[in-house]
Amino acid sequence: MTNEPKTPSEGKPAATRSTVARIRNRPTAQVLVIGGGINGIATFRDLALQGVDVVLVERGDYGSGASAASSHMIHGGVRYLENGEFRLVRESVQERNGLLRIAPHYVKPLRTTIPIFSTFSGILSAPLRFVTHKSGTPKERGALLIKIGLTAYDSFSRDGGAVPRHRFLGRKKSLAEMPDLDHNLKYTATYYDASVHEPERLALDVLKDGLAVGDNARAANYLEAAGATAEGIVLRDKVTGEEFSLAADVVVNASGPWTDVTNEEMGFDSTYMGGTKGSHIVLDNPQLLKALDGRELFFENNDGRIVLIYPLKGRILVGTTDLEADIREPAVCTEDEVDYFFDLISQVLPKIVVDRSQIVYRYSGIRPLPRHEDTQPGFVSRDYRIVDGTIAGVPLLSLVGGKWTTFRALSEHLTNEALAKLGKARTVSTVGLAIGGGKDFPQTPAARTSWIEAHTAGLDAGMVDRLLTRYGTRAAEVINTLADQASVPLKSDPEFTAAEISYFAEYEHAVHLIDVVLRRTNIAFIGSVTSELLAELSTLLGAELGWTPAEREQEIADTLTVLHDMHGVTVSARATSPASSKTVAAGK
Ligand SMILES: Cc1cc2nc3c(=O)[nH]c(=O)nc-3n(C[C@H](O)[C@H](O)[C@H](O)COP(=O)(O)OP(=O)(O)OC[C@H]3O[C@@H](n4cnc5c(N)ncnc54)[C@H](O)[C@@H]3O)c2cc1C
Repeated sequence: MTNEPKTPSEGKPAATRSTVARIRNRPTAQVLVIGGGINGIATFRDLALQGVDVVLVERGDYGSGASAASSHMIHGGVRYLENGEFRLVRESVQERNGLLRIAPHYVKPLRTTIPIFSTFSGILSAPLRFVTHKSGTPKERGALLIKIGLTAYDSFSRDGGAVPRHRFLGRKKSLAEMPDLDHNLKYTATYYDASVHEPERLALDVLKDGLAVGDNARAANYLEAAGATAEGIVLRDKVTGEEFSLAADVVVNASGPWTDVTNEEMGFDSTYMGGTKGSHIVLDNPQLLKALDGRELFFENNDGRIVLIYPLKGRILVGTTDLEADIREPAVCTEDEVDYFFDLISQVLPKIVVDRSQIVYRYSGIRPLPRHEDTQPGFVSRDYRIVDGTIAGVPLLSLVGGKWTTFRALSEHLTNEALAKLGKARTVSTVGLAIGGGKDFPQTPAARTSWIEAHTAGLDAGMVDRLLTRYGTRAAEVINTLADQASVPLKSDPEFTAAEISYFAEYEHAVHLIDVVLRRTNIAFIGSVTSELLAELSTLLGAELGWTPAEREQEIADTLTVLHDMHGVTVSARATSPASSKTVAAGK
Protein backbone atom coordinates (compact mmCIF):
# COMPACT_ATOMS: atom_id res chain seq x y z
CA MET A 1 0.00 0.00 0.00
CA THR A 2 1.56 3.31 -1.01
CA ASN A 3 0.51 6.68 0.29
CA GLU A 4 -1.54 7.01 -2.86
CA PRO A 5 -3.67 3.90 -2.74
CA LYS A 6 -5.05 4.23 -6.25
CA THR A 7 -3.21 3.92 -9.52
CA PRO A 8 -5.91 5.50 -11.61
CA SER A 9 -5.43 4.26 -15.12
CA GLU A 10 -4.04 0.81 -14.42
CA GLY A 11 -5.14 -1.57 -17.14
CA LYS A 12 -5.55 1.03 -19.87
CA PRO A 13 -4.29 -0.04 -23.33
CA ALA A 14 -0.51 0.02 -23.73
CA ALA A 15 0.53 3.57 -24.48
CA THR A 16 4.10 4.36 -25.43
CA ARG A 17 5.81 4.92 -22.14
CA SER A 18 9.31 5.56 -23.40
CA THR A 19 10.80 5.15 -19.93
CA VAL A 20 9.37 1.64 -19.61
CA ALA A 21 10.12 0.78 -23.25
CA ARG A 22 13.83 1.50 -22.68
CA ILE A 23 13.86 -1.10 -19.91
CA ARG A 24 11.58 -3.68 -21.59
CA ASN A 25 13.54 -3.56 -24.88
CA ARG A 26 16.76 -4.49 -23.07
CA PRO A 27 15.58 -6.46 -20.01
CA THR A 28 18.97 -6.95 -18.35
CA ALA A 29 21.04 -4.83 -15.96
CA GLN A 30 24.03 -5.17 -13.72
CA VAL A 31 22.07 -3.65 -10.85
CA LEU A 32 18.31 -3.31 -10.39
CA VAL A 33 17.36 -0.74 -7.75
CA ILE A 34 13.83 -1.21 -6.41
CA GLY A 35 12.33 1.96 -4.95
CA GLY A 36 12.50 5.54 -6.17
CA GLY A 37 12.62 7.31 -2.83
CA ILE A 38 15.62 9.53 -2.13
CA ASN A 39 17.83 6.60 -1.12
CA GLY A 40 17.07 4.44 -4.17
CA ILE A 41 17.44 7.47 -6.46
CA ALA A 42 20.76 8.53 -4.93
CA THR A 43 22.08 4.96 -5.24
CA PHE A 44 20.93 4.93 -8.87
CA ARG A 45 22.85 8.14 -9.55
CA ASP A 46 26.00 6.89 -7.82
CA LEU A 47 25.95 3.55 -9.67
CA ALA A 48 25.33 5.34 -12.97
CA LEU A 49 28.35 7.57 -12.32
CA GLN A 50 30.50 4.44 -11.86
CA GLY A 51 29.48 3.32 -15.37
CA VAL A 52 27.32 0.49 -14.02
CA ASP A 53 24.37 -0.64 -16.18
CA VAL A 54 21.65 0.27 -13.68
CA VAL A 55 17.85 0.24 -13.74
CA LEU A 56 15.64 1.98 -11.16
CA VAL A 57 11.97 1.04 -10.77
CA GLU A 58 9.44 2.91 -8.63
CA ARG A 59 5.92 1.57 -8.32
CA GLY A 60 4.32 4.97 -7.65
CA ASP A 61 5.82 8.37 -8.43
CA TYR A 62 9.41 9.22 -7.52
CA GLY A 63 9.65 10.51 -3.97
CA SER A 64 6.08 9.59 -3.05
CA GLY A 65 6.86 7.25 -0.12
CA ALA A 66 8.56 8.15 3.16
CA SER A 67 10.57 10.73 1.23
CA ALA A 68 7.39 12.80 0.80
CA ALA A 69 6.55 12.71 4.51
CA SER A 70 9.59 14.29 6.13
CA SER A 71 9.85 17.32 8.40
CA HIS A 72 12.07 18.87 5.71
CA MET A 73 15.02 18.98 8.08
CA ILE A 74 18.55 18.28 6.98
CA HIS A 75 19.97 17.89 10.41
CA GLY A 76 22.69 16.31 12.44
CA GLY A 77 20.04 15.12 14.82
CA VAL A 78 21.24 16.68 18.05
CA ARG A 79 18.75 14.52 19.93
CA TYR A 80 20.29 11.28 18.62
CA LEU A 81 23.23 12.06 20.91
CA GLU A 82 21.11 10.90 23.80
CA ASN A 83 20.53 7.61 21.96
CA GLY A 84 24.32 7.25 21.84
CA GLU A 85 24.29 7.37 18.02
CA PHE A 86 27.54 9.30 17.67
CA ARG A 87 28.48 7.77 14.29
CA LEU A 88 25.14 8.83 12.84
CA VAL A 89 25.34 12.35 14.31
CA ARG A 90 28.86 12.88 12.97
CA GLU A 91 27.93 11.62 9.52
CA SER A 92 24.69 13.63 9.52
CA VAL A 93 26.44 16.88 10.41
CA GLN A 94 29.05 16.28 7.69
CA GLU A 95 26.32 15.51 5.17
CA ARG A 96 24.29 18.57 6.23
CA ASN A 97 27.33 20.76 5.61
CA GLY A 98 27.96 18.96 2.34
CA LEU A 99 24.39 19.40 1.11
CA LEU A 100 24.49 23.13 1.88
CA ARG A 101 27.35 23.23 -0.64
CA ILE A 102 26.23 20.76 -3.32
CA ALA A 103 22.50 21.52 -3.29
CA PRO A 104 22.33 25.20 -2.26
CA HIS A 105 19.29 25.74 -4.50
CA TYR A 106 17.10 23.61 -2.20
CA VAL A 107 19.03 23.10 1.04
CA LYS A 108 19.23 26.26 3.15
CA PRO A 109 20.55 27.02 6.65
CA LEU A 110 17.80 26.86 9.27
CA ARG A 111 18.02 28.93 12.44
CA THR A 112 16.61 26.76 15.20
CA THR A 113 15.58 27.84 18.68
CA ILE A 114 14.91 25.55 21.64
CA PRO A 115 12.75 27.12 24.35
CA ILE A 116 13.86 25.70 27.73
CA PHE A 117 11.73 25.63 30.85
CA SER A 118 14.07 24.02 33.42
CA THR A 119 17.78 24.03 34.26
CA PHE A 120 18.69 20.52 35.35
CA SER A 121 16.06 17.96 34.44
CA GLY A 122 16.99 15.10 32.14
CA ILE A 123 20.63 15.09 33.26
CA LEU A 124 20.36 11.95 35.34
CA SER A 125 18.37 10.00 32.81
CA ALA A 126 20.57 10.97 29.86
CA PRO A 127 23.59 8.72 30.55
CA LEU A 128 21.21 5.81 31.03
CA ARG A 129 19.77 6.43 27.60
CA PHE A 130 23.25 6.02 26.11
CA VAL A 131 23.18 2.49 27.50
CA THR A 132 19.60 1.34 26.96
CA HIS A 133 17.01 2.55 24.48
CA LYS A 134 14.23 0.70 26.20
CA SER A 135 11.34 1.61 28.45
CA GLY A 136 10.95 4.66 30.70
CA THR A 137 9.24 7.92 29.90
CA PRO A 138 11.82 10.50 28.92
CA LYS A 139 12.13 13.42 31.33
CA GLU A 140 12.21 16.98 30.10
CA ARG A 141 15.64 17.90 28.75
CA GLY A 142 16.91 20.71 30.97
CA ALA A 143 19.22 23.57 30.01
CA LEU A 144 22.39 21.81 31.12
CA LEU A 145 21.68 18.70 29.07
CA ILE A 146 20.85 20.81 26.02
CA LYS A 147 24.04 22.85 26.52
CA ILE A 148 26.14 19.65 26.64
CA GLY A 149 24.38 18.30 23.55
CA LEU A 150 24.84 21.49 21.53
CA THR A 151 28.49 21.80 22.51
CA ALA A 152 29.12 18.25 21.28
CA TYR A 153 27.11 19.09 18.17
CA ASP A 154 29.25 22.17 17.47
CA SER A 155 32.35 20.00 17.72
CA PHE A 156 31.04 17.75 14.93
CA SER A 157 30.47 20.87 12.82
CA ARG A 158 34.14 21.90 12.72
CA ASP A 159 34.67 21.29 9.05
CA GLY A 160 34.74 24.64 7.44
CA GLY A 161 32.09 26.35 9.56
CA ALA A 162 29.13 25.79 7.23
CA VAL A 163 26.87 27.10 10.00
CA PRO A 164 27.50 29.32 13.05
CA ARG A 165 27.86 27.92 16.58
CA HIS A 166 25.02 27.79 19.11
CA ARG A 167 24.23 30.50 21.66
CA PHE A 168 22.24 30.58 24.90
CA LEU A 169 20.04 33.48 26.02
CA GLY A 170 18.32 34.12 29.34
CA ARG A 171 14.60 34.74 29.67
CA LYS A 172 14.66 38.54 29.20
CA LYS A 173 16.72 38.54 26.03
CA SER A 174 14.84 35.54 24.67
CA LEU A 175 11.51 37.31 25.10
CA ALA A 176 12.92 40.49 23.58
CA GLU A 177 13.67 38.46 20.44
CA MET A 178 10.49 36.38 20.46
CA PRO A 179 7.87 38.13 22.60
CA ASP A 180 5.12 35.59 21.92
CA LEU A 181 7.01 32.72 23.56
CA ASP A 182 5.58 31.41 26.84
CA HIS A 183 6.82 33.81 29.55
CA ASN A 184 7.52 30.89 31.90
CA LEU A 185 10.59 29.92 29.92
CA LYS A 186 14.05 30.16 31.51
CA TYR A 187 16.35 30.18 28.48
CA THR A 188 16.48 29.72 24.76
CA ALA A 189 19.25 27.93 22.88
CA THR A 190 19.69 28.86 19.24
CA TYR A 191 21.74 26.89 16.75
CA TYR A 192 21.76 26.21 13.02
CA ASP A 193 20.67 23.15 11.11
CA ALA A 194 19.39 23.08 7.54
CA SER A 195 16.10 22.61 5.77
CA VAL A 196 15.27 21.17 2.37
CA HIS A 197 12.71 23.45 0.80
CA GLU A 198 11.63 21.25 -2.11
CA PRO A 199 12.46 17.62 -1.22
CA GLU A 200 10.51 16.15 -4.12
CA ARG A 201 12.28 18.42 -6.59
CA LEU A 202 15.66 17.64 -5.05
CA ALA A 203 14.93 13.91 -5.53
CA LEU A 204 14.10 14.58 -9.20
CA ASP A 205 17.31 16.55 -9.60
CA VAL A 206 19.36 13.62 -8.27
CA LEU A 207 17.47 11.29 -10.62
CA LYS A 208 18.10 13.53 -13.63
CA ASP A 209 21.82 13.58 -12.80
CA GLY A 210 21.81 9.79 -12.94
CA LEU A 211 19.84 9.66 -16.18
CA ALA A 212 22.16 12.23 -17.77
CA VAL A 213 25.12 9.85 -17.46
CA GLY A 214 24.00 7.89 -20.50
CA ASP A 215 22.32 4.73 -21.77
CA ASN A 216 23.70 2.72 -18.85
CA ALA A 217 21.16 4.48 -16.60
CA ARG A 218 17.45 3.79 -17.07
CA ALA A 219 14.57 4.56 -14.71
CA ALA A 220 10.78 4.39 -14.73
CA ASN A 221 8.12 5.39 -12.26
CA TYR A 222 4.80 3.50 -12.01
CA LEU A 223 6.78 0.31 -12.61
CA GLU A 224 6.60 -2.20 -9.77
CA ALA A 225 8.81 -5.12 -8.76
CA ALA A 226 6.01 -7.63 -8.43
CA GLY A 227 7.74 -11.00 -8.02
CA ALA A 228 10.73 -13.14 -8.95
CA THR A 229 11.14 -16.13 -11.26
CA ALA A 230 14.11 -18.04 -12.69
CA GLU A 231 14.22 -15.40 -15.47
CA GLY A 232 14.66 -12.54 -13.03
CA ILE A 233 12.55 -9.91 -11.29
CA VAL A 234 9.00 -9.51 -12.60
CA LEU A 235 8.21 -5.87 -13.35
CA ARG A 236 4.60 -4.67 -13.68
CA ASP A 237 3.72 -1.48 -15.53
CA LYS A 238 1.15 0.21 -13.29
CA VAL A 239 -0.22 2.24 -16.19
CA THR A 240 -0.80 -0.56 -18.70
CA GLY A 241 -0.84 -3.62 -16.42
CA GLU A 242 1.77 -5.26 -18.66
CA GLU A 243 4.43 -7.49 -17.04
CA PHE A 244 7.93 -8.54 -18.11
CA SER A 245 11.05 -9.94 -16.43
CA LEU A 246 14.38 -8.23 -15.95
CA ALA A 247 17.57 -10.20 -15.25
CA ALA A 248 20.02 -8.36 -12.99
CA ASP A 249 23.37 -9.41 -11.49
CA VAL A 250 22.57 -7.64 -8.21
CA VAL A 251 19.23 -6.50 -6.78
CA VAL A 252 19.05 -3.56 -4.37
CA ASN A 253 15.86 -3.36 -2.35
CA ALA A 254 15.51 0.31 -1.40
CA SER A 255 11.77 0.25 -0.88
CA GLY A 256 11.97 2.15 2.40
CA PRO A 257 9.37 1.10 4.98
CA TRP A 258 8.07 -1.50 2.47
CA THR A 259 11.39 -3.41 2.35
CA ASP A 260 9.94 -6.57 3.95
CA VAL A 261 6.79 -6.40 1.81
CA THR A 262 8.86 -6.15 -1.38
CA ASN A 263 11.12 -9.01 -0.28
CA GLU A 264 8.08 -11.12 0.48
CA GLU A 265 6.57 -10.38 -2.96
CA MET A 266 9.83 -11.64 -4.46
CA GLY A 267 9.73 -14.79 -2.33
CA PHE A 268 12.37 -13.75 0.23
CA ASP A 269 11.19 -13.64 3.84
CA SER A 270 12.60 -10.85 5.96
CA THR A 271 11.59 -9.14 9.19
CA TYR A 272 13.93 -6.16 9.18
CA MET A 273 11.46 -3.30 9.38
CA GLY A 274 9.38 -1.70 12.16
CA GLY A 275 8.45 1.73 10.87
CA THR A 276 6.54 4.29 12.90
CA LYS A 277 4.03 6.78 11.58
CA GLY A 278 4.61 10.52 11.67
CA SER A 279 2.23 13.27 10.55
CA HIS A 280 2.43 16.99 9.85
CA ILE A 281 0.04 19.86 9.25
CA VAL A 282 0.69 23.02 7.22
CA LEU A 283 -0.94 26.17 8.55
CA ASP A 284 -1.75 29.49 6.92
CA ASN A 285 -1.57 31.78 9.97
CA PRO A 286 0.16 35.17 9.52
CA GLN A 287 0.26 35.82 13.28
CA LEU A 288 2.12 32.57 13.93
CA LEU A 289 4.41 33.22 10.96
CA LYS A 290 5.35 36.60 12.44
CA ALA A 291 5.86 35.15 15.94
CA LEU A 292 8.40 32.64 14.61
CA ASP A 293 10.66 35.39 13.30
CA GLY A 294 11.93 33.18 10.46
CA ARG A 295 13.18 30.37 12.71
CA GLU A 296 12.27 26.87 13.62
CA LEU A 297 11.09 26.17 17.14
CA PHE A 298 12.36 22.74 18.12
CA PHE A 299 11.36 21.57 21.55
CA GLU A 300 10.17 18.90 23.86
CA ASN A 301 6.41 18.50 24.08
CA ASN A 302 4.85 17.56 27.42
CA ASP A 303 4.95 13.84 26.47
CA GLY A 304 8.75 13.94 25.97
CA ARG A 305 8.59 13.90 22.16
CA ILE A 306 10.71 16.36 20.23
CA VAL A 307 8.47 18.43 18.00
CA LEU A 308 8.83 21.36 15.65
CA ILE A 309 7.08 24.42 14.34
CA TYR A 310 8.64 26.32 11.48
CA PRO A 311 8.03 28.69 8.63
CA LEU A 312 8.32 27.29 5.12
CA LYS A 313 7.08 28.79 1.85
CA GLY A 314 5.01 31.43 3.65
CA ARG A 315 3.20 28.74 5.68
CA ILE A 316 3.98 27.02 8.98
CA LEU A 317 4.90 23.35 9.19
CA VAL A 318 4.00 21.63 12.45
CA GLY A 319 5.04 18.10 13.36
CA THR A 320 5.42 15.40 14.22
CA THR A 321 4.07 12.29 15.86
CA ASP A 322 5.76 8.91 16.28
CA LEU A 323 3.20 6.09 16.44
CA GLU A 324 3.37 2.35 15.83
CA ALA A 325 1.84 1.68 12.40
CA ASP A 326 0.91 -1.05 9.94
CA ILE A 327 2.82 -0.58 6.69
CA ARG A 328 0.02 -2.26 4.73
CA GLU A 329 -2.40 0.54 5.65
CA PRO A 330 -2.23 4.05 4.14
CA ALA A 331 -0.81 6.58 6.60
CA VAL A 332 -3.08 9.57 7.24
CA CYS A 333 -2.96 12.43 9.71
CA THR A 334 -5.84 11.90 12.16
CA GLU A 335 -7.92 14.44 14.07
CA ASP A 336 -6.22 13.30 17.30
CA GLU A 337 -2.86 14.18 15.79
CA VAL A 338 -4.19 17.60 14.80
CA ASP A 339 -5.28 18.13 18.42
CA TYR A 340 -1.77 17.09 19.50
CA PHE A 341 -0.25 19.69 17.16
CA PHE A 342 -2.53 22.47 18.39
CA ASP A 343 -1.68 21.54 21.95
CA LEU A 344 2.07 21.68 21.31
CA ILE A 345 1.74 25.13 19.74
CA SER A 346 -0.09 26.28 22.86
CA GLN A 347 2.78 24.96 25.05
CA VAL A 348 5.26 27.45 23.63
CA LEU A 349 3.18 30.17 21.98
CA PRO A 350 0.13 30.39 24.27
CA LYS A 351 -1.18 33.66 22.86
CA ILE A 352 -1.39 32.45 19.28
CA VAL A 353 -4.77 31.08 18.30
CA VAL A 354 -4.87 28.36 15.68
CA ASP A 355 -7.85 26.52 14.30
CA ARG A 356 -8.66 23.89 11.73
CA SER A 357 -9.74 26.43 9.12
CA GLN A 358 -6.06 27.45 8.86
CA ILE A 359 -4.83 23.97 7.90
CA VAL A 360 -4.13 24.05 4.17
CA TYR A 361 -2.47 20.64 3.90
CA ARG A 362 -1.69 17.62 6.03
CA TYR A 363 0.43 14.62 5.36
CA SER A 364 1.65 11.48 7.00
CA GLY A 365 4.17 8.75 6.31
CA ILE A 366 5.94 5.78 7.81
CA ARG A 367 9.60 6.02 8.77
CA PRO A 368 11.73 3.17 7.44
CA LEU A 369 13.00 2.20 10.90
CA PRO A 370 14.40 -1.15 11.95
CA ARG A 371 12.28 -3.64 13.91
CA HIS A 372 12.47 -2.37 17.48
CA GLU A 373 10.66 -4.75 19.88
CA ASP A 374 10.03 -2.83 23.15
CA THR A 375 12.11 0.27 22.40
CA GLN A 376 9.90 3.36 22.46
CA PRO A 377 9.27 4.81 18.97
CA GLY A 378 11.15 8.07 19.66
CA PHE A 379 14.26 6.14 20.73
CA VAL A 380 14.50 3.64 17.88
CA SER A 381 17.82 3.91 16.08
CA ARG A 382 17.76 6.31 13.12
CA ASP A 383 20.95 4.76 11.71
CA TYR A 384 20.85 2.55 8.62
CA ARG A 385 22.29 -0.80 7.63
CA ILE A 386 22.53 -2.97 4.52
CA VAL A 387 21.58 -6.65 4.78
CA ASP A 388 22.76 -9.41 2.42
CA GLY A 389 20.42 -11.99 0.90
CA THR A 390 19.77 -13.89 -2.32
CA ILE A 391 16.90 -13.50 -4.78
CA ALA A 392 16.35 -15.31 -8.09
CA GLY A 393 19.85 -16.77 -7.66
CA VAL A 394 21.58 -13.37 -7.43
CA PRO A 395 22.76 -11.21 -4.51
CA LEU A 396 20.08 -9.09 -2.83
CA LEU A 397 21.03 -6.02 -0.79
CA SER A 398 18.20 -4.80 1.45
CA LEU A 399 18.39 -1.30 2.88
CA VAL A 400 17.09 -0.89 6.42
CA GLY A 401 16.65 2.74 7.50
CA GLY A 402 18.17 5.90 6.05
CA LYS A 403 17.17 9.52 6.46
CA TRP A 404 16.94 12.36 3.95
CA THR A 405 19.94 13.99 5.59
CA THR A 406 22.32 11.11 4.93
CA PHE A 407 21.19 10.08 1.44
CA ARG A 408 24.51 10.83 -0.26
CA ALA A 409 26.62 8.94 2.29
CA LEU A 410 24.14 6.07 2.41
CA SER A 411 24.09 5.74 -1.37
CA GLU A 412 27.89 5.71 -1.35
CA HIS A 413 27.84 2.74 1.06
CA LEU A 414 25.15 0.92 -0.88
CA THR A 415 26.95 1.54 -4.18
CA ASN A 416 30.22 0.25 -2.69
CA GLU A 417 28.45 -2.95 -1.60
CA ALA A 418 26.94 -3.43 -5.06
CA LEU A 419 30.28 -2.70 -6.74
CA ALA A 420 31.93 -5.32 -4.51
CA LYS A 421 29.35 -7.90 -5.64
CA LEU A 422 30.10 -6.98 -9.27
CA GLY A 423 33.85 -7.09 -8.67
CA LYS A 424 34.17 -3.46 -9.80
CA ALA A 425 36.02 -0.54 -8.24
CA ARG A 426 34.64 2.95 -7.56
CA THR A 427 35.85 5.46 -10.15
CA VAL A 428 33.91 8.61 -9.23
CA SER A 429 33.26 10.15 -5.81
CA THR A 430 30.02 11.97 -5.03
CA VAL A 431 31.65 13.96 -2.22
CA GLY A 432 31.39 17.62 -3.17
CA LEU A 433 29.73 16.81 -6.50
CA ALA A 434 27.04 19.43 -7.19
CA ILE A 435 23.51 18.13 -7.63
CA GLY A 436 21.45 19.26 -10.63
CA GLY A 437 20.48 22.91 -10.39
CA GLY A 438 22.84 23.36 -7.46
CA LYS A 439 25.76 23.51 -9.90
CA ASP A 440 27.10 27.09 -10.09
CA PHE A 441 24.04 28.30 -8.18
CA PRO A 442 24.44 32.05 -7.52
CA GLN A 443 24.65 32.51 -3.77
CA THR A 444 24.98 36.26 -3.28
CA PRO A 445 22.40 38.89 -4.27
CA ALA A 446 24.86 40.31 -6.85
CA ALA A 447 25.56 36.89 -8.39
CA ARG A 448 21.84 36.20 -8.52
CA THR A 449 21.14 39.47 -10.33
CA SER A 450 23.85 38.72 -12.92
CA TRP A 451 22.52 35.20 -13.44
CA ILE A 452 19.02 36.55 -14.03
CA GLU A 453 20.30 39.25 -16.41
CA ALA A 454 22.26 36.66 -18.37
CA HIS A 455 19.22 34.40 -18.75
CA THR A 456 16.27 36.68 -19.38
CA ALA A 457 16.17 35.75 -23.10
CA GLY A 458 13.43 38.34 -23.58
CA LEU A 459 11.49 37.04 -20.56
CA ASP A 460 10.26 39.02 -17.62
CA ALA A 461 13.05 39.20 -14.96
CA GLY A 462 10.56 38.32 -12.22
CA MET A 463 9.73 35.10 -14.03
CA VAL A 464 13.41 34.18 -14.42
CA ASP A 465 13.89 34.85 -10.71
CA ARG A 466 11.02 32.47 -9.87
CA LEU A 467 12.41 29.82 -12.22
CA LEU A 468 15.84 30.10 -10.56
CA THR A 469 14.24 29.53 -7.15
CA ARG A 470 12.22 26.57 -8.43
CA TYR A 471 14.84 24.76 -10.54
CA GLY A 472 18.20 26.17 -9.46
CA THR A 473 20.51 26.68 -12.42
CA ARG A 474 18.53 24.00 -14.29
CA ALA A 475 16.22 26.97 -14.89
CA ALA A 476 18.41 27.57 -17.96
CA GLU A 477 17.10 24.27 -19.38
CA VAL A 478 13.52 25.26 -18.62
CA ILE A 479 14.06 28.68 -20.20
CA ASN A 480 15.17 26.93 -23.41
CA THR A 481 11.86 25.09 -23.57
CA LEU A 482 10.03 28.35 -22.84
CA ALA A 483 11.70 29.97 -25.81
CA ASP A 484 10.22 27.29 -28.06
CA GLN A 485 6.71 27.50 -26.69
CA ALA A 486 4.44 30.22 -25.45
CA SER A 487 5.73 31.35 -22.07
CA VAL A 488 2.24 32.32 -21.09
CA PRO A 489 1.48 32.27 -17.36
CA LEU A 490 -1.35 29.93 -16.36
CA LYS A 491 -4.66 31.75 -16.04
CA SER A 492 -5.42 30.04 -12.76
CA ASP A 493 -1.91 30.38 -11.27
CA PRO A 494 0.42 32.91 -12.92
CA GLU A 495 3.33 31.49 -10.89
CA PHE A 496 3.59 28.79 -13.55
CA THR A 497 3.78 28.82 -17.33
CA ALA A 498 2.13 26.40 -19.73
CA ALA A 499 5.53 25.34 -21.03
CA GLU A 500 6.64 24.23 -17.56
CA ILE A 501 3.72 21.82 -17.33
CA SER A 502 4.81 20.25 -20.64
CA TYR A 503 8.37 20.15 -19.26
CA PHE A 504 7.17 18.05 -16.30
CA ALA A 505 5.71 15.48 -18.70
CA GLU A 506 8.56 15.48 -21.18
CA TYR A 507 11.63 15.76 -18.94
CA GLU A 508 10.43 14.81 -15.46
CA HIS A 509 8.39 11.65 -16.03
CA ALA A 510 5.08 13.12 -14.75
CA VAL A 511 2.49 10.43 -15.48
CA HIS A 512 -0.56 11.57 -13.54
CA LEU A 513 -2.05 14.94 -12.63
CA ILE A 514 -1.38 14.24 -8.94
CA ASP A 515 2.38 14.02 -9.72
CA VAL A 516 2.33 17.67 -10.78
CA VAL A 517 0.10 18.88 -7.95
CA LEU A 518 2.09 17.16 -5.18
CA ARG A 519 5.64 16.64 -6.41
CA ARG A 520 6.63 18.69 -9.47
CA THR A 521 5.22 21.81 -7.78
CA ASN A 522 4.30 22.80 -4.21
CA ILE A 523 0.81 23.93 -5.23
CA ALA A 524 -0.92 21.57 -2.79
CA PHE A 525 1.56 22.09 0.05
CA ILE A 526 0.84 25.81 0.22
CA GLY A 527 -2.91 25.35 -0.28
CA SER A 528 -3.23 26.87 -3.76
CA VAL A 529 -5.19 24.15 -5.54
CA THR A 530 -8.38 25.34 -7.19
CA SER A 531 -10.77 23.51 -9.51
CA GLU A 532 -9.82 25.92 -12.32
CA LEU A 533 -6.16 25.09 -11.82
CA LEU A 534 -6.82 21.35 -11.98
CA ALA A 535 -8.80 21.84 -15.20
CA GLU A 536 -6.01 23.92 -16.75
CA LEU A 537 -3.21 21.59 -15.62
CA SER A 538 -5.04 18.48 -16.82
CA THR A 539 -5.63 20.03 -20.25
CA LEU A 540 -1.95 20.88 -20.64
CA LEU A 541 -0.69 17.55 -19.28
CA GLY A 542 -3.30 15.61 -21.21
CA ALA A 543 -2.11 17.22 -24.44
CA GLU A 544 1.41 15.91 -23.73
CA LEU A 545 0.35 12.49 -22.47
CA GLY A 546 -2.43 11.81 -24.98
CA TRP A 547 -5.34 11.67 -22.54
CA THR A 548 -8.87 11.27 -23.88
CA PRO A 549 -11.51 13.61 -22.40
CA ALA A 550 -12.69 10.73 -20.19
CA GLU A 551 -9.14 10.05 -18.95
CA ARG A 552 -8.68 13.73 -18.21
CA GLU A 553 -11.87 13.77 -16.11
CA GLN A 554 -10.68 10.62 -14.33
CA GLU A 555 -7.32 12.25 -13.54
CA ILE A 556 -9.12 15.21 -11.95
CA ALA A 557 -11.41 12.91 -9.97
CA ASP A 558 -8.46 10.80 -8.73
CA THR A 559 -6.51 13.91 -7.76
CA LEU A 560 -9.46 15.24 -5.77
CA THR A 561 -9.76 11.89 -3.98
CA VAL A 562 -6.06 11.77 -3.03
CA LEU A 563 -6.10 15.39 -1.88
CA HIS A 564 -9.15 14.80 0.25
CA ASP A 565 -8.41 11.36 1.66
CA MET A 566 -4.65 11.64 2.15
CA HIS A 567 -4.15 15.38 2.69
CA GLY A 568 -7.40 16.54 4.27
CA VAL A 569 -8.22 19.15 1.66
CA THR A 570 -11.29 19.80 -0.40
CA VAL A 571 -10.89 21.86 -3.53
CA SER A 572 -13.18 24.74 -4.33
CA ALA A 573 -13.22 27.22 -7.20
CA ARG A 574 -11.15 29.70 -5.18
CA ALA A 575 -8.61 27.92 -3.02
CA THR A 576 -7.91 24.75 -1.17
CA SER A 577 -9.86 24.55 2.06
CA PRO A 578 -9.63 22.14 4.94
CA ALA A 579 -11.83 19.04 4.78
CA SER A 580 -12.82 19.43 8.41
CA SER A 581 -14.38 22.64 9.64
CA LYS A 582 -14.15 21.78 13.32
CA THR A 583 -12.47 24.68 15.09
CA VAL A 584 -10.20 24.35 18.09
CA ALA A 585 -8.28 27.20 19.69
CA ALA A 586 -4.74 26.34 20.59
CA GLY A 587 -4.36 29.16 23.07
CA LYS A 588 -4.26 28.09 26.72
C1 LIG B 1 7.19 11.76 9.60
C2 LIG B 1 8.58 11.70 9.06
C3 LIG B 1 9.46 12.76 9.30
C4 LIG B 1 10.76 12.68 8.81
N1 LIG B 1 11.57 13.77 8.95
C5 LIG B 1 12.83 13.72 8.47
C6 LIG B 1 13.65 14.86 8.55
O1 LIG B 1 13.23 15.93 8.98
N2 LIG B 1 14.92 14.75 8.08
C7 LIG B 1 15.41 13.59 7.57
O2 LIG B 1 16.58 13.55 7.21
N3 LIG B 1 14.62 12.51 7.43
C8 LIG B 1 13.34 12.55 7.86
N4 LIG B 1 12.52 11.48 7.74
C9 LIG B 1 13.07 10.24 7.19
C10 LIG B 1 13.11 10.24 5.68
O3 LIG B 1 12.02 10.91 5.12
C11 LIG B 1 13.12 8.81 5.17
O4 LIG B 1 13.88 8.01 5.98
C12 LIG B 1 13.64 8.75 3.76
O5 LIG B 1 12.91 9.62 2.95
C13 LIG B 1 13.55 7.33 3.25
O6 LIG B 1 13.81 7.31 1.88
P1 LIG B 1 13.83 5.92 1.13
O7 LIG B 1 14.19 6.19 -0.27
O8 LIG B 1 14.66 4.94 1.87
O9 LIG B 1 12.32 5.38 1.28
P2 LIG B 1 11.01 5.87 0.52
O10 LIG B 1 11.00 7.31 0.28
O11 LIG B 1 9.84 5.29 1.23
O12 LIG B 1 11.15 5.17 -0.89
C14 LIG B 1 10.86 3.82 -1.09
C15 LIG B 1 10.09 3.72 -2.39
O13 LIG B 1 9.96 2.35 -2.75
C16 LIG B 1 8.77 2.22 -3.50
N5 LIG B 1 8.40 0.82 -3.54
C17 LIG B 1 7.91 0.06 -2.53
N6 LIG B 1 7.71 -1.19 -2.98
C18 LIG B 1 8.07 -1.23 -4.29
C19 LIG B 1 8.07 -2.24 -5.29
N7 LIG B 1 7.65 -3.49 -5.03
N8 LIG B 1 8.49 -1.92 -6.53
C20 LIG B 1 8.93 -0.65 -6.81
N9 LIG B 1 8.92 0.34 -5.90
C21 LIG B 1 8.52 0.05 -4.66
C22 LIG B 1 7.78 3.10 -2.72
O14 LIG B 1 6.69 3.49 -3.52
C23 LIG B 1 8.67 4.26 -2.29
O15 LIG B 1 8.56 5.38 -3.16
C24 LIG B 1 11.19 11.53 8.13
C25 LIG B 1 10.30 10.50 7.85
C26 LIG B 1 8.99 10.59 8.30
C27 LIG B 1 8.03 9.50 7.94
